[in-house]
Amino acid sequence: MFSNYIRPSLGRVSRNIHASNPASRHRYLLSTLAILEQRDGQLNKASLSAVTAATKLGAPVHAFIAGTDASKVAQEAAQVLGVDKVVTVSNAAYEKGLPETFAPLLIDNIRNGGYTHIIAGHTAFGKNVMPRVAALLDAQQISDVIAIESESTFIRPIYAGNAIATVESLDPIKVITVRGTAFPAAASEGGSGSIEVGTDPNPETSTEWISEDLTKSDRPDLATAGRVVSGGRGLKSKEDFDKIVVPLADSLGAAIGASRAAVDSGYADNSLQVGQTGKVVAPELYLAIGISGAIQHLAGMKDSKVIAAINKDSDAPIFQVADVGLVGDLFSEVPKLTEELNKIKE
Ligand SMILES: Cc1cc2nc3c(=O)[nH]c(=O)nc-3n(C[C@H](O)[C@H](O)[C@H](O)COP(=O)(O)OP(=O)(O)OC[C@H]3O[C@@H](n4cnc5c(N)ncnc54)[C@H](O)[C@@H]3O)c2cc1C
Repeated sequence: MFSNYIRPSLGRVSRNIHASNPASRHRYLLSTLAILEQRDGQLNKASLSAVTAATKLGAPVHAFIAGTDASKVAQEAAQVLGVDKVVTVSNAAYEKGLPETFAPLLIDNIRNGGYTHIIAGHTAFGKNVMPRVAALLDAQQISDVIAIESESTFIRPIYAGNAIATVESLDPIKVITVRGTAFPAAASEGGSGSIEVGTDPNPETSTEWISEDLTKSDRPDLATAGRVVSGGRGLKSKEDFDKIVVPLADSLGAAIGASRAAVDSGYADNSLQVGQTGKVVAPELYLAIGISGAIQHLAGMKDSKVIAAINKDSDAPIFQVADVGLVGDLFSEVPKLTEELNKIKE
């Protein structure tokens, strides 16, 4: 059950909710389960933003991790700062995070642990599994949370980030996904949580994992990189995207991103899309090349610390959010910039 209080994302905030101190009166009744992600026995560090968000509630934080052999990764998770206990289940059925098996697994462990808050990252995994968990608990999921006001009040962007909603949930168990850029990953060392083997319902499913086709790259991960160079439709072709964007990203040690128009035109892989329907990033530097700055693109990058843009159209909306802008032809300006950066590196 929800009540929504919406305010514009810009301008003065007038709050209608009684924000109670998270660490206050109900704290002793609360307990939080942070859902961690792993792949091939490696802890996904980005999923540690769920732990950071969980610590904001001021209640004990348990972490949950499952996979083919989750014992090693559970030990790693126990070292994470803020984690009091790790609940772990080892079974190949959970390795790929299929919602059909992972959701019943979580339900059993949530009920056994008596948790009041279930928090996962707003990642492909979180977006896939948590709605099913919420449905099984008959709770309404609170998605893409950017701040926690109290144990029942959460803040999240809506309308592609053009308004901020303050949401109060009256559900007894809150099912939440959190935006990674709003909750930096918890430190992977400094904790000393205990480890407990969780219950395994071993649910039957007609869904079978067949295969995956992952893009492998030595570049920094787009979602967590400190610098991102993104290219748009202004690049005109895949050949020019590779010729212009890639060397600039190399010279900056940056991850590569792209607008949806660039992805749809085949210039870049869709795992590189930044925006409302792509990844949300907030690097130290976001460099937009030949990107107009549509609101759906801005939704994925406008929290970047420094935004720089190169565009031949001085009226392009990207310049309204850019800290640094260059009006010019990307085909001549970007190679010059790359050359200068390479000279500094030498
Ligand atoms: C529901 C929905 C979800 C969406 N989700 C996303 C999303 O997640 N991410 C996203 O990016 N978009 C998304 N979009 C699409 C979005 O609305 C825009 O269409 C898209 O962002 C435009 O991409 P672009 O800026 O590369 O292309 P364009 O808007 O075509 O802009 C190209 C820019 O390149 C400049 N340019 C051209 N030639 C040169 C040159 N030689 N030198 C310098 N500059 C040049 C032009 O001046 C122009 O500003 C979504 C749309 C919808 C409806």
